[in-house]
Amino acid sequence: MVTARHYPVGVSLRLYDTAAREVRTFEPLVPGRVSIYLCGATVQAPPHVGHIRSGLAFDILRRWLMASGYDVTFIRNVTDIDDKILARAAEEDVPFWQVAMRNERAFTEAYDVLGCLPPTYEPRATGHVPEMIDLMHRLIEDGHAYAVDGDVYFDVRSFPDYGALSGQRLDDMQPAVDSEASIKRDPRDFALWKSAKPGEPQWQTPWGPGRPGWHLECSAMASRYLGPVFDIHGGGLDLLFPHHENEIAQSKAAGDDFARFWMHNAWVTTSGEKMSKSLGNSLLVSEVVQRVRPVELRYYLGSAHYRSMLEFSDEAMAESAAGFRRIEGFLRRAEETLGDAPSPVAVPAAFAAAMNDDLGVPQALAVVHDTVRSGNASLAEEDVTAARAARDEVIVMLDILGINPSAQTWVGQSEDGAARRALGPLVDVVLAQRQAARERKDFAVADALRDGLAASGLVIEDTAAGPRWSLAEED
Ligand SMILES: [Zn+2]
Repeated sequence: MVTARHYPVGVSLRLYDTAAREVRTFEPLVPGRVSIYLCGATVQAPPHVGHIRSGLAFDILRRWLMASGYDVTFIRNVTDIDDKILARAAEEDVPFWQVAMRNERAFTEAYDVLGCLPPTYEPRATGHVPEMIDLMHRLIEDGHAYAVDGDVYFDVRSFPDYGALSGQRLDDMQPAVDSEASIKRDPRDFALWKSAKPGEPQWQTPWGPGRPGWHLECSAMASRYLGPVFDIHGGGLDLLFPHHENEIAQSKAAGDDFARFWMHNAWVTTSGEKMSKSLGNSLLVSEVVQRVRPVELRYYLGSAHYRSMLEFSDEAMAESAAGFRRIEGFLRRAEETLGDAPSPVAVPAAFAAAMNDDLGVPQALAVVHDTVRSGNASLAEEDVTAARAARDEVIVMLDILGINPSAQTWVGQSEDGAARRALGPLVDVVLAQRQAARERKDFAVADALRDGLAASGLVIEDTAAGPRWSLAEED
């Protein structure tokens, strides 16, 4: 992983702030440090590729901030109590926490397999009920919330800015769908806390037993770990309303300044529609990584700008993987020719400019591919100095994007990597035998050894630097 030494603090990073509706210069609250809260998963089912895009987009943001010299605190929560989790648990006749834990692990595995750095902390909603009670106390005391029959509601008319984030006027809004409108002061008031229903999990509060509403959780956990004001709040575009609108209302009405930047990633679509679970299991992260290597899936999902919809298809993914293999091919050839380890170098200016322009990953990848092309040309011309410079730049850029193929994450996770580690020494023995057979002009044995390797699905190329092997493509 690249670290602070590659890029100085204080370069001008500009990010699109949903609340301001414009790209504006990012300056952290505390110089040198950045605090991020990202809405994490509601753990009702294992993740499909649409669920994981958000974690991946913000992993790239985090890596870029780290490479820019910032110390980043990254909080991503787990919503482990929710109507859908309870429904699933009832269907399976198991406790809710069994469903939640199983799916939380599936999410963790998906983040890990795609090389997302683990959060600094990952709080669970059910572990933060005291913080939620405290927040409700503050809101009720200040006249922003009220209790009815064991439910607690936020009074939207008490907060004049309600709707500002999503650009809506209160008068145009539909009723909040989380409870019967009849018991609320205004049908658009939303639930902070839901009274206990028979058989459901419950926690005690001064207003009676019940369970948290989704919106309240995030306000309580964000301020618990990042304080009343922090730098960036992130999440999928689908969370803009009502979730993020409600988070702002709760926290600001309680007197917290809350997030200074609001960032939203776009969806993954299939046939132009937001990806949904009705599409079946083939889009689960655990399934997709059987069809492509995890690093190729990361490259593909990260290659679109985070605010652009990404239309997912196996064809587009295969095309994208071919692009990634061109980068790998250059690195492999460079390794064979140069024979030394990459040295840390400065991030190319064009790459930095692209990343500083609201995380322009497509433009940043164009710089990577340009560098690969010129590196290949340098190898062809046997210009070792230029090839080495290109190789070192490519590595520093890939590290920032989390797709350096020789990073431990990928070597350890990819089956190809594991196979290569096991096969490498064996192939070397066979190749040495073949070479010895050729030298003693025993061409029958040399050919038999070559045919044996080919029959094992290995492709042997004789290069100036000696024989090189690779695994043949499946199709
Ligand atoms: Zn949230």
